Amino acid sequence: MDLRKGFDIARYIRTIPDYPKPGIMFRDITTLFANPYGFRAATDELLWPYLSADLDYVVGIEARGFILGGAVAHELGLGFVPIRKKGKLPGRTIGQDYTLEYGVDTVEIHADAITTGDKVLLVDDLIATGGTAEAALELIRKSGADVIAACFVVDLPDLGGSKKLKNKGVNVHTLIEFEGD
Ligand code: AMP
Repeated sequence: MDLRKGFDIARYIRTIPDYPKPGIMFRDITTLFANPYGFRAATDELLWPYLSADLDYVVGIEARGFILGGAVAHELGLGFVPIRKKGKLPGRTIGQDYTLEYGVDTVEIHADAITTGDKVLLVDDLIATGGTAEAALELIRKSGADVIAACFVVDLPDLGGSKKLKNKGVNVHTLIEFEGD
């Protein structure tokens, strides 16, 4: 089913070369968010496969995953749970390290936010190498919950993240692709 007949999502994503460092083509989705049709088209397309899915929570990854995940959770009538960078969540947390190009970072979830048997939809704006999404997957699985699917507006398939996630048994839903990194 193609729900995008009237709206070209890719056209509203701004590309900023050499940000945050030389060689990176930063896909700036804030220009899509700022457009009322763009924000609705992206939200609708992310959630339509899950309209009648058996889900308990939407989990969004800081920070752009909060904007999309919040809208998706609201539309699906589900609660929203944040995954944040280390040190930002006030309650007891569980954490997961992941490798960046230079060094290691950590993401966290509240230890009591989701529990055994919960069914989760994971949301972020973009998947590149998949490091962030894999760390989120580990956190959700450590909590005892199942990731029913993960969805992203943008896939950078040359960086292999969506493939890695699929190889870990996750159903991955993405809206548009850009070549390269
Ligand atoms: P990764 O862990 O490599 O899959 O990177 C995904 C995370 O980093 C997402 O939260 C994105 O928002 C951000 N990101 C990585 N690469 C880009 C890019 N080229 N343009 C915009 N955001 C990016």
